[in-house]
Amino acid sequence: MADIRLEGVGHSYDGGRTWAVKPMTWTWRSSRAYALLGPSGCGKTTLLNIISGLITPTVGRVYFDDRDVTGVPTAGRDIAQVFQFPVLYEEMSVYDNLAFPLRNRKVPKQEVDRRVRQVSHLLGLDQVLGRRSRRLDPGRQQIVSLGRGLVRSQVAAVLLDEPLTVVDPALKWTLRSKLKEIHRDTGHTLIYVTHDQTEALTFADEVVVVKDGEIVQAGEPAELFLSPAHEFVGHFIGSPGMNVVPGEVVSGVVRVGGTDVGRAGGGLPPGPVRIGVRPEFVEIAKAGEFRVFPGLPARVTGVDRMGAYDLVHTEAGGHKVIAKTEAGAPYRPGDGAYLHFPAERTFLFRDEVRCGSL
Ligand code: ATP
Repeated sequence: MADIRLEGVGHSYDGGRTWAVKPMTWTWRSSRAYALLGPSGCGKTTLLNIISGLITPTVGRVYFDDRDVTGVPTAGRDIAQVFQFPVLYEEMSVYDNLAFPLRNRKVPKQEVDRRVRQVSHLLGLDQVLGRRSRRLDPGRQQIVSLGRGLVRSQVAAVLLDEPLTVVDPALKWTLRSKLKEIHRDTGHTLIYVTHDQTEALTFADEVVVVKDGEIVQAGEPAELFLSPAHEFVGHFIGSPGMNVVPGEVVSGVVRVGGTDVGRAGGGLPPGPVRIGVRPEFVEIAKAGEFRVFPGLPARVTGVDRMGAYDLVHTEAGGHKVIAKTEAGAPYRPGDGAYLHFPAERTFLFRDEVRCGSL
């Protein structure tokens, strides 16, 4: 296991006109489980392939600890990689597929058997070890691929590129927790690419959020949820994502339309800001009832009854704001309401980047 260090690494597929991965310096620390999260086309796979050696970056150097591996092909990097779709020897048994990466490295027979049985047990493959891989359904084949990626205990890193895409949704939860168990056991450095926030948040020690070829924030799942450093993180993580209301800082006070919503923390200079607050933290009260000051007058435009909670949709000063409340919230479309944005959970953004808080 090694720290994987990217120094000024960037990649362009079109001779430098556009960057799939913008030049970045970043370290993946040994033995941690990372999720690389971002929308389709943001550069996740390119980044992963730079680490594995399938792509040589246009600029920058890649280091495994102090070893410069920039020009080293995949085979010389000791990386296990699992792709979105199964990559197996179809005529081989499941057992032989799982054993292959170990036999290939001359691991003693007994150790091969021990590891294959351990991984197959954890992934629920015990019953199919003797079957030919091609006789399994695609979901099961993918689980075997996952097993192949995890079977070696000595690797620089395990790279997983949307590995559960073809797996039955009900099985995904189980497999993710198995994956965590295997990670705890082996201490692999894992990098798990996904565009699914639930997958990222439930799996990783650290989530690395990528937008347009750039890392915009990295941190523990709770940190990204509670303290987004970039508007995009607020939108992309959370369901629904963070509300954003345009406002203005005037003499240290944040205003929406003509209404004060709080003080601008951090000595923010006057000018326009975007106010970000998650639906979970918007405090809502009915017009005319007790309310927390300062409050923003709003009108309820709709209520989604989600079972476990309600989403109260409102309009405040011409802007949409959603409040997530307990189930059975006493609101109907057309009701007047007040919204309060709590200081410790409301952030201010300029040029998409957090610049302060209420
Ligand atoms: P997805 O989740 O859809 O796989 P991604 O986040 O993994 O997306 P990449 O596949 O790394 O993103 O793609 C990043 C950008 O590079 C995209 O604009 C994509 O169109 C472009 N790209 C990827 N591979 C190539 C290639 N072989 N040739 C040219 N452009 C490419």
